[in-house]
Amino acid sequence: MNDVNSANYPKLIGKKVARFCPNGHRFVVRANREDGSLFLGCSKYPECRETAEIPTDLLLQLTGATPLPGFAVSEEPGEDDQ
Ligand SMILES: [Zn+2]
Repeated sequence: MNDVNSANYPKLIGKKVARFCPNGHRFVVRANREDGSLFLGCSKYPECRETAEIPTDLLLQLTGATPLPGFAVSEEPGEDDQ
């Protein structure tokens, strides 16, 4: 779990990230409506209901800890880190 809350990073909500759900759709940052915690939800929701925790490295990038080269460049769906 992480402590990143939408109250601290409201601009991240709805942001598309370079991560993909198991069905090959792009994930976007979403906020838990109960506690405000951020997580990754499929951009195809509600058609696809995959979710995931935001990996620490991605979190650092999203919160501005490091620049993210190529972040805005579209990637092939289904790309996976080996
Ligand atoms: Zn999906």
